[in-house]
Amino acid sequence: MKDCIFCRIAGGEIPAYKLYEDGDFMAFLDIRPLTVGNTLVIPKKHYRWVIDVPEFGRYFEVAKLMGERAIKSLGAEWVSFLTLGFEVPHAHIRVIPRYKKDLHGTVVDIEKFEKLSESRMQEIASKLREEGS
Ligand SMILES: [Zn+2]
Repeated sequence: MKDCIFCRIAGGEIPAYKLYEDGDFMAFLDIRPLTVGNTLVIPKKHYRWVIDVPEFGRYFEVAKLMGERAIKSLGAEWVSFLTLGFEVPHAHIRVIPRYKKDLHGTVVDIEKFEKLSESRMQEIASKLREEGS
């Protein structure tokens, strides 16, 4: 879709901290991270909602892989997965690595963001790319 920011990222028109890509799916760092290593997993083709994505199981396997990388390489304690679907009208799973001392309580507060420098984002991205792939 022409004016969709995630379609433009998938098409390489807009740069992103890309972490994973296969024929159907892509993962990249959220530039407004709720926690360190907050990753978005999208289908490369435009679908409005997560439930519209074919191969739903394989889609979530990619989200799991990204969560496992965050545990291994960033020291996350556990991982929250969130699929609200409103901020960008292109299906996305938020993979949210959780830490004992992050900005959130039991439930993730989507109004609270980490302020991370570009070099810190680069460092996080390189850690999340290394594991497993
Ligand atoms: Zn799109």
